[in-house]
Amino acid sequence: MIKVDKIISATWIYTGEDQDKVLFDHSIVVSDQKIRDIQPTIKAHEMYEAEETYQLSDHILLPGLINAHTHSAMSLLKGYADDLQLETWLNDYIWPAESKFVNYDFVRVGSELAIAEMIKGGTTTFNDMYFFPEATAEASKNLGIRANIGLVVMEFPSNYANDPQEYLNKGFEFRDHWRDNKLISTSIAPHAPYSVSNSTFELINTYAEQLNLTIHTHLHETRNEIEESIKQFSSTPIERLSELGLLGPKLMAAHCVHLSENDMYQLKSNGVSVLCNISSNMKLGSGFVDVYQLINNNINIAIGTDSSASNNRLDMFSEMRSMALNNKALTMKSEFLKPSEVLKMATINGAKALGLDHIIGSIVKNKYADIIAVNLDRIDTQPCYDPLASLVYCADRSSVEYVWINGDTKLKERVLVNIDEIEILQKVKSWKNKINQT
Ligand SMILES: [Zn+2]
Repeated sequence: MIKVDKIISATWIYTGEDQDKVLFDHSIVVSDQKIRDIQPTIKAHEMYEAEETYQLSDHILLPGLINAHTHSAMSLLKGYADDLQLETWLNDYIWPAESKFVNYDFVRVGSELAIAEMIKGGTTTFNDMYFFPEATAEASKNLGIRANIGLVVMEFPSNYANDPQEYLNKGFEFRDHWRDNKLISTSIAPHAPYSVSNSTFELINTYAEQLNLTIHTHLHETRNEIEESIKQFSSTPIERLSELGLLGPKLMAAHCVHLSENDMYQLKSNGVSVLCNISSNMKLGSGFVDVYQLINNNINIAIGTDSSASNNRLDMFSEMRSMALNNKALTMKSEFLKPSEVLKMATINGAKALGLDHIIGSIVKNKYADIIAVNLDRIDTQPCYDPLASLVYCADRSSVEYVWINGDTKLKERVLVNIDEIEILQKVKSWKNKINQT
């Protein structure tokens, strides 16, 4: 018998590799942070001796969900400014609040709040972009979640940096410091076409090529952004980035809500990944991303929540359901977007966008053991004829009962492991009082 760390057995396993394939009565064998084997449960127990075993007869195991676009620290601004268009929300509320309050501690506490919420909802990796990235990385390391952290760059000064070169210098210093941590990876994150100049975009492109880094940006979030770009540059933001050489398989473009035929062609021909944030786009009144055309053009689509300041949840189950239902309604095609396609967007497609699909995003041998267990034997999910349909249409984040990240148990019977929720809540309330007083 081979000694291993864990054998996790469940009635169903969705590996995320083959579209609709669900394994029945199988086990995942975990050792040294990785998935070592997947076998029928009886065989797994004959072959391996584990320190810990889980028998989850009511559950489906699936790859940990990947939140492909968020700003975790902004969870401290959840509910701070609601019911506003993006430009008013940013210019009159969010940016002034950030210039008053954002510092290392704000980012640390906001990130802890976000990470605790994400783990409880089955997210095991998030793709972030914000100031003071070291605070988000520290929070991720301590709470034990995987994070791809954007090294934010913008033209304007903030409490974090004064000009593009200082943003970049601080970002690279951060990257050097964290490059050996298995949970942390990095991208360069120019904030958006309206907050980054041509020369800064060119500089970012050079660095991204030299350092082999992915690029994470906001792109085509509102109609206004596109109209202003046409006025200023005589091109849409996508055309402008194309001229600057930014479009390519390493680019992750959040939103892409309003696309011309040529914009769509540019995304397709350059292999850009699109990070959809449907709830945030709805809440800010920005519009709907054309998922039907993105799929027809074979564009890689991942799912994000955006921040809690514009969602106001970091809930990938809610996003999956919205992704499926909104697009059936928008296309008037009920057969469009099968549950397995939506699950791929929330797992392996996110990993592809991040350039991490060789290590996470599906349940296969030698990938890191980022796995979640969802209980399908509850009032809200029974009867269950098709476990993938139950996951996308019936289950919500409270159905997530176990989470393993890098092979470590992070949620057990819905309770966070080695994370003090009460302490996080106390720190959050103290920040809320500080923000409320002004
Ligand atoms: Zn965003």
